[in-house]
Formats: sequence, structure tokens, C-alpha cells
Amino acid sequence: MSAPRLEIHLDRIAHNARSLVARLTARGVSLTAITKATLGLPQVAAVLAAAGVSGIGEPRIETLAALRRSGLTLPLTLIRSPMPSQVAQVVAQADISLNTEPAVLDLLSAAAIDQDHRHGVVLMVELGDLREGILPERLEGIAAGLLRLPGLDLIGIGANLACQNGVVPSQASMAQLSSLATGLETRFGLVLPLVSGGNSANLPWLFTGGTPGRINNLRLGEAILLGREPLQRRPIPGLRTDAFRLVAEVIEANLKPTLPWGQCQQGAFGAPPARVDRGERWRALVALGLQDVDAAGLTLPAGMTLLGASSDHLVLDTGSVAVAVGAELGFDLNYSALLRAMTSPFVAQTLIEAPIQATAEGRQRLASSPAGVQA
Ligand SMILES: *Cc1c(COP(=O)(O)O)cnc(C)c1O
Repeated sequence: MSAPRLEIHLDRIAHNARSLVARLTARGVSLTAITKATLGLPQVAAVLAAAGVSGIGEPRIETLAALRRSGLTLPLTLIRSPMPSQVAQVVAQADISLNTEPAVLDLLSAAAIDQDHRHGVVLMVELGDLREGILPERLEGIAAGLLRLPGLDLIGIGANLACQNGVVPSQASMAQLSSLATGLETRFGLVLPLVSGGNSANLPWLFTGGTPGRINNLRLGEAILLGREPLQRRPIPGLRTDAFRLVAEVIEANLKPTLPWGQCQQGAFGAPPARVDRGERWRALVALGLQDVDAAGLTLPAGMTLLGASSDHLVLDTGSVAVAVGAELGFDLNYSALLRAMTSPFVAQTLIEAPIQATAEGRQRLASSPAGVQA
């Protein structure tokens, strides 16, 4: 098998999605799955659809279009405010888009009329994280403008916290979103079918006694894919945190001194960290670099530490273990590492549907290798 490769365990992703759908449904909240860390991989979206999510969201029109072509029948939401230059594609490919700008709404309306096609709009409200969002005091005015535009349907409002500044979704901010929804309904005499409270960072709030109020949707990516909440990156009980694993190959293994010699200035990516002399240590050079992954986001096999990473090399201290040249090492990934690995043209993807049935020979080889090392 080629290396580096990302192993994608579809059965574990399905388990996480089914579990979250059940827990959210019990609170009257629907789940829009956000697949962007997999670049909208159609096989992942298909598994999520089968697990009962109510829609798929993607920030980019290219990945939405690919999902459409894959035959997915769930509603598709563009979760980044449309680029003015792409409104025609947005109307053609997305059922719904998240929006903040009146100028973009005007263009979407014109495109919808042009294509004789209605387009759903969710207005995003700024609740303090300072990324996308309409300031609450401007929401009514922008909604009034939207309601006058032909071809567009105001289907709801939403908010996004914890992405730019790590602002924690709270009962207070969710109550504010609820009251903004009821405020719009009263003011304009309409019903908003969707109030989308946020992303995976909303789960600690929801699971620790938060009252949804009018919040009836969450947009979840990391919780489904990695089984963690993004505020402190704690595992969510009952979910798999190992749906993805990156496998790479060792290309050099040597006992070398801890300290470099010669006069030291900058390395390829800045000043090297200060080192303590630990004498001669086993180290492994792995054919994996910053062109493949965010090295800081990798969890190394037990007993190994990261000494450095450059474009194409990972340098590991393997302690007392002399890893064989040609051996494969497996790494767990955080969100940032996953995103980079999925984006890299050098990382192959292996989809795994169900637990691999190990052969007798394979089992023996695994049993005789050190932790995390595949012969
Ligand atoms: C990425 C994103 C999400 C999903 O975030 P997770 O933390 O992965 O759950 C939800 N909403 C918007 C607008 C996003 O950009």
C-alpha cells in the first residue's frame, strides 16, 4: 500500500453520526453534518446520510457540486457566505446558504430569478466570536430587505462561535439567538423553520443541561469526524476518536547524538528549539512533512517524541526502540492535521468500511512489533 496514506474508518464515522443524531433528536435538535475536514468526501457524506443526518454543509462550492454529482439527495448548505463572483453557482448547487451581506443577497436574488429557482437563506448573527455575522441590532433591517427580494426564502437564523476567538457558546448567547428568532417572527408575522445554534463547540452547552429554546439545529463537523468537542478537545463520551489514522514510512533510523554540532542559526522553519543533551538516542526519519500534514497535530506512537518537521521530513526520537527502515508508523490526527492531510496531493486515502479481518500471519507480525509500529 502507498505511503503516506490516510486510513478513513467509515464505520467509526457512521457510529459517531448515529450516536449524535440520537442525542440531538432527543433534544429536538437536527444535525447538519459538516464534511469540510474531508473536503466533502462523497463516501463520507453517504455514510452520514445513512446515519440519519438531516443535511450536509460545506464551505466551498466545488465540494458541494461534487456531492451533488455523487447523487446525494439530502439538502446541501453552503456554510460560508457566498463570494459575489459565485452567486450563480451557489443558486445552482446549494439549496441553502448562510449569509451576512445585503449586497450578496441582492446578487443571489438576481441569480435565483435568472435560474427560475428558489434559494434558501439563513442569516448569520454575530454573537461575539467576531468572524461572520450580522450585528444583532442590524438583523431586523437586513431581514426586512431580504423579505422584499424575489427568489429567496428566509428559512432561519444562525450563529457561529468558538472559531475565531474561542468564544464559548453559553446559555446566554443561545437564549439571545432564540429571542432574536422570535423577535423576527413577531415583527414580520412569519415562522422561521431553522434556528442553527452553532458547531461542535455547542455540544458541551447542550449536553450539560443547556436549554435549546428555539435552537433546533446544530452544524457538526469535528464531533462526528474526530469524536471531540473543540473547546478543550476532550473526547465526547461514547464516540470514536480514531476514525482517521495517518500511516507513513521510515526512511532512516540511527543512533545519533542529541545535540547538533557546528554554529547554529535558523533552520528551514525558524530557530530550532533548545535541546538538553541526552546522549546518543535512536531517531527515525519519516517520509512525512509539512507538505503532508500539520506535524504539531499528530499523536505519535507510544514512547516516541517529535524532534522536528520540515517540508518533507519528520524527525522522531524513538527512545530505546530501533525502528526498522521501511517500517510503517501510525499517527492519530487532530483537526488541523486531518485538514492538511486531506488537502495534500501526496497523501493517499484508504477507505475502510468495517474492521479489517487480520490474517493469522498479519496478527503474528503485529503482535511482535512495538506499539504503533507495523512490520
Ligand atoms: C466549520 C464550520 C462548522 C463545523 O464546525 P465543527 O467545529 O467542525 O463542528 C459549523 N459552521 C460553520 C459556519 C463552519 O464554518
